[in-house]
Amino acid sequence: MNDIFRRDPRREWILRNRLHPQHALLVSPAGESRGPGGLLRKNPHAVGFIGPNGIRRIDRLDVGNLVSLAGRRVSAAPAAVELPLHQVAQPDYYVAVVPDMIGGLLTSHDKDTIGQAHALIRHAGGAGAVLVIVFGEHREDGFATVGADRLLEVSGKRYLGYAPEQRTCALAQIEQEIAPRYWLFPDSVAAGFELGCRLSARIGERPATQVWRADSATCTSRAAGGSQDITRPTPRVLLLAEECAAPVDETRHEALPMALGRVRKRAWRIEDCGLIDVDPAAVPLAEAAFIISAGNGIHDWAQFHRTAELLGATEGASRVAVDDGHMPRARQVGATGTWVTAQVYIAVGISGAIQHLQGIGQCGKVIAVNTDPGCDMVKRATLSVIADSSEILAELQRLVLARRSGALHDAA
Ligand SMILES: Cc1cc2nc3c(=O)[nH]c(=O)nc-3n(C[C@H](O)[C@H](O)[C@H](O)COP(=O)(O)OP(=O)(O)OC[C@H]3O[C@@H](n4cnc5c(N)ncnc54)[C@H](O)[C@@H]3O)c2cc1C
Repeated sequence: MNDIFRRDPRREWILRNRLHPQHALLVSPAGESRGPGGLLRKNPHAVGFIGPNGIRRIDRLDVGNLVSLAGRRVSAAPAAVELPLHQVAQPDYYVAVVPDMIGGLLTSHDKDTIGQAHALIRHAGGAGAVLVIVFGEHREDGFATVGADRLLEVSGKRYLGYAPEQRTCALAQIEQEIAPRYWLFPDSVAAGFELGCRLSARIGERPATQVWRADSATCTSRAAGGSQDITRPTPRVLLLAEECAAPVDETRHEALPMALGRVRKRAWRIEDCGLIDVDPAAVPLAEAAFIISAGNGIHDWAQFHRTAELLGATEGASRVAVDDGHMPRARQVGATGTWVTAQVYIAVGISGAIQHLQGIGQCGKVIAVNTDPGCDMVKRATLSVIADSSEILAELQRLVLARRSGALHDAA
């Protein structure tokens, strides 16, 4: 009839709610497209790619890392598969992606953004190459497997820390030298939003923000607090929402290094004075980067507090722990508590009720410590330890103290 894309909010809601009775009927195929937030990914390219093993695989839950207390793997990691190599010998054009690289590593949002870059190339046609631009030092070694055809590392002291002016200057020079067809940024508070806006102003483009669907003709942005969608012709600069596209996981890419000419020095107005130590206990939950959260499976509260202190983690709690009076209300994580965005979230003795999972939807790595291997927190977690909470907390304390005293040579 026509190819107008029609949304079904009820269906989307059921897909997001794993406890809904009709959830299992609507997901396809189960477990293969869960996003980093625990929400099911709506794949706009439903046909997708079939991998070399004949199976479509998005192992975001990393179930291969399920370990027992004794350190043995409960389920074996999937066998390494040699993915087909995607090469672009002579690119006709580039799609530039500037990832956030929080902690020197690609975030899931970054990977979604690179996935969107490839989607744009598929739609636009021609020999397009994805150029990933990275500032400062990083610890990432997986650029080839996430879809980087070319890699431009802009190094130098001036790009370290919070350096939006310096970075914008370098991007403006890349614009002059390479003139990418599109500029893609994760629309995030970490860096992408500010850099994308600064570059747009610098090169005189009007960016599209909170984009969740884009091809070379039109893009759709979420607006009005998520209650409206705005569709417009695709501009050159796109600030992309999380889960805007499926990350690349079926091909290897070359990640060939590219170099940038000398960027002219200018007088910067912003100076990064470095990080200052803060008391993790005083950090608001919503801003904490590292949280250890306690649930009904904690039986020694003094031990929990001591572990959080030694790890330098901010404390969180499930509602049951709060209702039972073990933790203050301000520490409750979840739908009726605080929605957190920690890079690492350790859930000790928390079952993973939907109200709690909603609150940790934006967390990076989730580690579950639980005696029940079938609980929802274990299904959501990146890494699960099936063991008694007291034993694990005691072991964590021992490791931290050993490391501090220098007795532990290798970081655990
Ligand atoms: C309207 C509404 C709003 C809500 N809002 C929130 C909210 O914002 N946040 C929230 O957290 N909850 C909320 N809840 C409550 C939620 O439904 C759950 O009841 C709650 O999250 C469960 O907390 P829990 O996982 O700590 O406890 P339980 O469900 O009792 O789970 C305890 C877990 O600990 C494990 N365990 C037990 N002993 C050990 C041990 N020795 N070592 C390791 N693991 C062990 C168990 O296997 C189990 O998985 C809400 C509920 C309602 C109805």
